[in-house]
Amino acid sequence: MKETTTPTTDPKTGLYILRGTIASDGSQIKIFCSHCNQHHYHGWPSGSVDPGHLEHRQAHCIDTLNNKATDSPFWDHGYMIGIVPPAKGVPTRRITDEERRASVAGALRIIREIEELIEEVNREVQNESAPGWLKHYIGNRRAHILTAEQHHQRTAE
Ligand SMILES: [Zn+2]
Repeated sequence: MKETTTPTTDPKTGLYILRGTIASDGSQIKIFCSHCNQHHYHGWPSGSVDPGHLEHRQAHCIDTLNNKATDSPFWDHGYMIGIVPPAKGVPTRRITDEERRASVAGALRIIREIEELIEEVNREVQNESAPGWLKHYIGNRRAHILTAEQHHQRTAE
């Protein structure tokens, strides 16, 4: 994967901004250092995924075969680190009205099926009755779904 090579600077501090992603263990951020041509890991206790959230760190640059850490543009003052912003021009796809209605209809159909099952158990299976809380829960879920759908239709453009 190609990495960006020219870091931008933070207008507040004048320091370079290196961006990366949360490392797989969740407690660190993995940034690509254009000087060392490798990743540096820094603790990221905030866990923030807001690209506007920057924190200052001392450079983790190290001496390599071709580079001295002290030649790094980040060596003296460190760098600001943050999360890579989401790609522009790739809007997250919103579901269509048709898809939303199909999804609501599907949920209501499943709720109806469970209610029929509850009634069937209560009616036909001896010494067994479906718990009242289940019926209550199912009824509440339907009410929530219908309320959300009504709200959506009222607020839709
Ligand atoms: Zn470095």
